[in-house]
Amino acid sequence: MRGAMTGDTSEDYARRRVRELTEEIKRLHADVLYEQERNANNVHAYQDRIDAALALHSEWGIYDECGHDHTEEDVRTGKAIDVDVGFTCEEGKVQSVCRECDTDDGDATEATEDGEWPCPTVKALKGEK
Ligand SMILES: [Zn+2]
Ligand SMILES: [Zn+2]
Repeated sequence: MRGAMTGDTSEDYARRRVRELTEEIKRLHADVLYEQERNANNVHAYQDRIDAALALHSEWGIYDECGHDHTEEDVRTGKAIDVDVGFTCEEGKVQSVCRECDTDDGDATEATEDGEWPCPTVKALKGEK
C-alpha cells in the first residue's frame, strides 16, 4: 500500500497541485482584470483633467467690424456673431487669445502678442511643440 503512512498517493498529490495551480491562475487573472480596470479609470481621470484644463485655456476670438451689413438673422443662424459693438463675422476676426492666459483686459479689440491662442499650455496638453 503505497503512501499509506502519509495517506497521500502521488495521484492525490497531482490532483491537489492541479487544484492549487488552478486557484493560483484564477487569482492572477483577477489581479490582471483589476489592474486593467484601474488603468482604464486612470486614463479617464487624466482625460477629464486635460479636458478641464483645455476648457480653461479655450479660444477667445477678438473681432473688429467686418464691414458687412449683418442682421439679427445672421447671428441666429451662426453666420455672424454679436459682439458688444455690433454684429461681425469670422472675416472680422483680429486674433484669437487664450481665455486663461490673456491678461490684457483693456481694449478688447487691440491685438496683443501676449496670450495668443493656442497658448503654450494648450500646445503642451495636445502634445504640440
Ligand atoms: Zn492658455
Ligand atoms: Zn461679416
